[in-house]
Amino acid sequence: MEINLISDTVTRPTQGMLDAMLSASVGDDVFKADPTVNALEEKVAKLFGMERALFFPSGTMANQAGIKAHTDPGDQLICDKYAHVYNYEGGGVAFNSGVTCKLVDGHRGMMTADQVQASINPPDFYHSPKSSLVCIENTTNKGGGACWDIEEIKRIRQVAKSHDLGYHLDGARLWNALVKKKETAKEYGAIFDTVSVCLSKGLGCPVGSVLVGSDALIESAFRVRKVFGGGMRQAGYLAAAGIYALDHHIDRLSEDHDKAQDIGATLRTLSFVKNVEPIETNIIIFNIQDDIDETQFLQTLESNGVHIIGMGQGKLRIVTHLDYSDEMHNKFLEILKSLPVKKAS
Ligand SMILES: *Cc1c(COP(=O)(O)O)cnc(C)c1O
Repeated sequence: MEINLISDTVTRPTQGMLDAMLSASVGDDVFKADPTVNALEEKVAKLFGMERALFFPSGTMANQAGIKAHTDPGDQLICDKYAHVYNYEGGGVAFNSGVTCKLVDGHRGMMTADQVQASINPPDFYHSPKSSLVCIENTTNKGGGACWDIEEIKRIRQVAKSHDLGYHLDGARLWNALVKKKETAKEYGAIFDTVSVCLSKGLGCPVGSVLVGSDALIESAFRVRKVFGGGMRQAGYLAAAGIYALDHHIDRLSEDHDKAQDIGATLRTLSFVKNVEPIETNIIIFNIQDDIDETQFLQTLESNGVHIIGMGQGKLRIVTHLDYSDEMHNKFLEILKSLPVKKAS
């Protein structure tokens, strides 16, 4: 049995999802004539209580189009040093928008309103780049699936608005935060100017992300999506997977969270584990003892059919997901407890 825990993106569509995809009615979405894409966009816009939504092939493109819609070349955006938009989008902020990032030294990928306030360049001080956008991430990826306190998110909004800055949420895993914190998408729609959400992570779709916002911002992101080459034709087959996932795969995320807690509890009992970061959702980040060779450790797991990834600086990551069954879970916990871990010589 192969147990793949490298990310929640490794899932394959369920039979129910495949059935929904196969029976989708489709048209040419570049001409806005795909009824299923239109239905998905309306559904997500309504879920967030925002004016309009736009379907994208990836979370990266949804974030990048959002950033482009909010900024002009030479501007600066403010984000945490762990931010996906800064670390894992290939430098797209600079490449696509000509924007630099002011990095904030937050905690587990989350900054405070005071830190954001202190990062804004005075608008009349023309020597500095113009601050024009604040980006936050919920849950945080590099921060180990941590969830924000929504009150801090609202305080940052106050700061952003009082300085006329845009406010974008990278909500690739927002669904996990909503389930964990018992919050609603509408609460988030009321705070942010734009929100990106992934359908291809915890929700189990093969492809797809959505950007939501005001009519004006999404109209501008619509043009940007075309420029990025992200206009898709009969994309309704993919959008149908998204509609199915929104209806069937949100509530079950708590199962992924429970399994992550079990894994954390087991890891904490093992002598080769140095520490396990707090676990809030479906991501587990842990360190093994300094005298254990990381490459060898990962190979030992591989030889047992278990795949996880290293994140650098001795951090290892496990992500639970829809395709990680109860059977795999029990097997994985057994494997962990019986691992023959050798000290590096
Ligand atoms: C995965 C991820 C993205 C981008 O997703 P892709 O669909 O892989 O481009 C953006 N932000 C965060 C926080 C992510 O985890």
